[in-house]
Amino acid sequence: MNVYDSGQILKMMHCENYKSTSSFVTADLIIVNTCAIREKAVQKVYSFLGRLRGLKKKNADLIIVVAGCVAQQQGIKLVERFPHIDIVLGTHAVYQLPDLIHEVKIKRHFIVETKMSDHIDEMDSAGNMPAQASEASSEISGFVTIMRGCDNYCTYCVVPYVRGREVSRKPELIVSEIENLVHGGVKEVTLLGQNVNSYGVKEGLTSFPDLLALVNKIKGLDRIRFVTSHPKDLSKQLIEAFGKLDKLCNHIHLPVQSGSNRILKKMNRKYTRESYLEKIEKLRDVSPQIAITTDIIVGFPGETDYDFEQTIDLIKTVRFDGLYAFEYSDRPEVPATRFSDKIVSDIKKERLQSLFKLQANVVSKKHQSLEGRIFPVLIEGTSKKQQKKNSASTSIEICGRTSENRIVNFDCPSHWGLDIDSLKGQIIDIKIEKIFSNSLWGVPIDKQISKAGALN
Ligand code: SAH
Ligand code: SF4
Repeated sequence: MNVYDSGQILKMMHCENYKSTSSFVTADLIIVNTCAIREKAVQKVYSFLGRLRGLKKKNADLIIVVAGCVAQQQGIKLVERFPHIDIVLGTHAVYQLPDLIHEVKIKRHFIVETKMSDHIDEMDSAGNMPAQASEASSEISGFVTIMRGCDNYCTYCVVPYVRGREVSRKPELIVSEIENLVHGGVKEVTLLGQNVNSYGVKEGLTSFPDLLALVNKIKGLDRIRFVTSHPKDLSKQLIEAFGKLDKLCNHIHLPVQSGSNRILKKMNRKYTRESYLEKIEKLRDVSPQIAITTDIIVGFPGETDYDFEQTIDLIKTVRFDGLYAFEYSDRPEVPATRFSDKIVSDIKKERLQSLFKLQANVVSKKHQSLEGRIFPVLIEGTSKKQQKKNSASTSIEICGRTSENRIVNFDCPSHWGLDIDSLKGQIIDIKIEKIFSNSLWGVPIDKQISKAGALN
């Protein structure tokens, strides 16, 4: 979501004739987009803002903007701590940024804008998002926010406080934004929301599975992804969409957070491990090869060894294709911060390490089973390894993703004469020959090579 917001900010600033630069020293404007989800992220923001102090001393005309969730949460306190900040841009004020910059240039005084609004589409029209999004881009994958905020109030989570109430965008605006992205060369879109499963419910709009069906009809779009699904709201209709919609990728991110019913209750997640496992089974009934990834918090207040064992047991049962795990961290305002029985840091670290070890094992076995299989891979560009190689090298390593979101690299020998830019965005069948912990390596199926070449 922050990547999407940063993209929107960049587009707005380009319209204001600003150009991106990789050098802080020559910048006239620095926008720091922030995340408040865990303590570590906030600490990073503070240390970065501290480093900007010297730049402002050297260049009094430099404008420093802090955007995102830390801006929303801290407001004026940020300017008190870092007086070199010019604008604190709350999460609902993103589209006011160009106006605020003009204002700050005239007033020569800092501005804090952290008001929250319930009208998401007003923000869109102010920012003329669809028109800006149509610019051609070198990306073949794009993000589109379909809703903002969250009404779930999980007891550990700051999102409802810093992003506000849940509001869904109108389907026609979403579809037109995606059409514009596709027009600019995008082949894959990821629909974003804190809980996409409750899309449109409050406003009586199209349901999320119906929205997916609308997006599925967009010509020129090849793949659809979405994040995040709350397990409590994962409907039968959405599960069935995986069997029906040809563009919907074979992957779901379904954060479980804990395998213990007692902890899930304390987290206010409103599902049980049993109901979660039942939904996993239904997903696999509809799509046996579906990749399932998750988020887990270790060391939630009161988490006993037994509770943690339940999480380990759930990981062994589900065999996730990937997981993001975090040590629980107190956030200002949220209920869990006031819970007793906090878990000491050493235990949290130990639990996190044993969880990662188990998961590495699960993924390694899963990857072994993929050897020799053929997957359609959407080509994203040259691989990370290729980017480090010198230009005299005889082969080019290309990187793409399977529908299950696995990274696949493969060699495209230079004598094929294929231009990487023309390969980007194409879907090519790749046979998996080698496996690594975070990626796969394969070879293109012969007939596909000539097909790709012919498309040049
Ligand atoms: N809307 C998504 C999650 C968004 S936050 C959902 O409902 O799953 C992304 C992840 O950050 C969460 O899934 C959770 O695992 C983690 N997280 C959130 N608050 C946290 C906290 N206080 N401490 C540690 N991890 C946290
Ligand atoms: Fe946070 Fe996600 Fe829970 Fe909303 S559903 S409160 S974003 S963890």
